[in-house]
Amino acid sequence: MPELPEVETIRRSLQKAIVGKKIKDVEVRKPKIFQGDTEDVIGETIKKIERRGKVLMIKLSGNKNLVVHFKLTGQMVWVPKGGETVTLGHPIPFVGTQLPAKTTHVIFTVNGGKLFYNDLRQFGWIKVRDKKGTEREVGTLGVEPLTKEFTPEKLSQIFAKTKRPIKLVLMDQGKMAGVGNIYANDALFEAGIIPTRPANTLNQGMVKKLHRAIEKVLSDGLKYGGSSARDEAYIKPTGEPGSYQEHFRVYQREGQSCPKCGKTIKRIKFGGRGTFFCPRCQK
Ligand SMILES: [Zn+2]
Repeated sequence: MPELPEVETIRRSLQKAIVGKKIKDVEVRKPKIFQGDTEDVIGETIKKIERRGKVLMIKLSGNKNLVVHFKLTGQMVWVPKGGETVTLGHPIPFVGTQLPAKTTHVIFTVNGGKLFYNDLRQFGWIKVRDKKGTEREVGTLGVEPLTKEFTPEKLSQIFAKTKRPIKLVLMDQGKMAGVGNIYANDALFEAGIIPTRPANTLNQGMVKKLHRAIEKVLSDGLKYGGSSARDEAYIKPTGEPGSYQEHFRVYQREGQSCPKCGKTIKRIKFGGRGTFFCPRCQK
């Protein structure tokens, strides 16, 4: 699933590509994915693109926004001057080289090109919402990393209230927004904390380390344009993959040597998700 760095990469790319442009048409091929009235969107100009956690918000000139959640396999691909069908220079996961594909569910025709929403598993959504409705969609999200509200003190408060395993707390969108399985695994490795450790047992030094680690792995994710591992659908709106997968610390590295101590990285299934750690470095 696209996490903060992936969605932020999508946001920055779309910001360059489509802000200031007018939406000329919206073709909805799968009504459950596009929740709202296309009439509220057609003719509107795209004013700016924001993000909260894993949620993308495309702000329109009227009082409506497009609120987008990519969930497991959602993708947005921008094709400048896109005609009825488009042949891509290189294949995209779960699409191939032709757009629209079987996995294409919404097509926005915008001045100067087309924006394709593809989603193999179809858990993602695009909702048309006014200002209040937009706030409702993101209102339950917890603290946003990489902002000034995200402090060690804030993390301390969150962790002190629960004995749930630290990895599950990091991935709880109501506590902290944007971190999913990839960056939770890597941040805990970076901080030397075992994923199963009860959150309220972290001392101040550990919280500080984890705070720094979360900022570090998310910044790395952004620097490399997100993670496009072989089992993931994520690509940038340009159709190019990210490269954070080449820099995974422990995620999907079971059986390999720990980058710090050389011991073999372990994988367990925990909270229904693959969980990776070094049994020597993480306590
Ligand atoms: Zn180690």
